[in-house]
Amino acid sequence: MNIILLGPPGAGKGTQAKLIEDRHGMKQLSTGEMLRAAVAAGTETGRKAKAIMDRGELVPDEVVVGIIADRLGQPDVSKGFILDGFPRNTAQAEALDRMLGSKGLRLHAVIEMKVDDEALVERITGRYTCGSCGKGYHDRFEKPKVAGVCDACGGTSFTRRADDNEKTVRDRLSVYNTQTAPLVKYYGGRGTLKTIDGMADIAQVTRQIEGVLKGL
Ligand code: ADP
Ligand code: ADP
Ligand code: ZN
Repeated sequence: MNIILLGPPGAGKGTQAKLIEDRHGMKQLSTGEMLRAAVAAGTETGRKAKAIMDRGELVPDEVVVGIIADRLGQPDVSKGFILDGFPRNTAQAEALDRMLGSKGLRLHAVIEMKVDDEALVERITGRYTCGSCGKGYHDRFEKPKVAGVCDACGGTSFTRRADDNEKTVRDRLSVYNTQTAPLVKYYGGRGTLKTIDGMADIAQVTRQIEGVLKGL
């Protein structure tokens, strides 16, 4: 199955994508993670993207479309994929349609995760990640079972994103509302859109997504 998780920054897309990946063998394709890896590696793409990401703006469409085109050509997506953070505007959605069409693939569902703005700010400013395996945590909502030790891999170093501060979050939310939210109409018109309540706790959100996947 091929799905998109659509939702604002902090909605829980990455958290749920990793859970779906574990359960169903579908591959998470997060343009944000791939761009952060490029920044960390100091590639040309990374150098160009860094300042834009720090401001909370969108990196150019041709960059992210190129990244996704490469990934869709690799064999590990054959069991399906979960797009997380892509597409983020109509031009990217149209480019995705063309890429899928040329490969004879289709989208089975676009799952919209709805969360209130104030909850998003709280989620993002409390977010951190295991530096070894990438598992996501939250200061209040998703703490490791043993303080300072990753549940998944036992790692003890954690990172916070440079753009996860309140000022940049507000800018990212406004970018989402103007550029990405129109995709709800784009996909709604084709009947692939399913909307779920992203305000529920992590396990309840997973159950809602499982319900959607079962119905496909
Ligand atoms: P996104 O990928 O959509 O930006 P994340 O999955 O990284 O969002 O989640 C943002 C933060 O909120 C993380 O710290 C995560 O642990 C936490 N989180 C995710 N889902 C929920 C939820 N349903 N309730 C409370 N906190 C959540
Ligand atoms: P979140 O879902 O928490 O907002 P992401 O990790 O998806 O964050 O994205 C972080 C940043 O990477 C974005 O603010 C943007 O600068 C850049 N980015 C990620 N995906 C895209 C995309 N599809 N198009 C343009 N920029 C992107
Ligand atoms: Zn870990």
